[in-house]
Amino acid sequence: MDRQCPCGSGAAFAACCQPYINGTAHAPTAEALMRSRYTAFGEGAADYLYDTRDPNAHYRDERAEILQSINGTEWLKLTILATQKGGAKDDEGVVEFAAAFRPKRPKFMATATPDDGIKQMRERSFFIRDEGRWFYIDGDQLDPYRPKPNEPCWCGSGKKTKKCHG
Ligand SMILES: [Zn+2]
Ligand SMILES: [Zn+2]
Repeated sequence: MDRQCPCGSGAAFAACCQPYINGTAHAPTAEALMRSRYTAFGEGAADYLYDTRDPNAHYRDERAEILQSINGTEWLKLTILATQKGGAKDDEGVVEFAAAFRPKRPKFMATATPDDGIKQMRERSFFIRDEGRWFYIDGDQLDPYRPKPNEPCWCGSGKKTKKCHG
């Protein structure tokens, strides 16, 4: 059976983010690039994360930070909250998202602590398209996204928010 894409699109990995991460296709929209970058963190695709950043936005120690993030973080759920422009004919785009994550830790510790350690990152990300390719520039950190009490929790548990991280 085909593995579902980690970005949560509902499509198979092979029909969603994988071709972009493998370099056999370019993400056609800012949202597609954002989703594939989220997936790339979970897949450990450090080069893809580096190469899909705006060349003008690179900084010293960026590669080390990417590796540190990959090695230290387990990504649980991506929620796209809003997009502006970012289409196949645009030159810039904005994608706002919430991502649930927790620090990676040894399995034996998983039940040793009552706090599940799940945190949320919410960001408004800025993208630019250059010669037909989308690049991530940077983003603004926002206050956590809170779904309505009866909506599914942002953490990906499948429970209602009020019975989870409400
Ligand atoms: Zn995907
Ligand atoms: Zn939750």
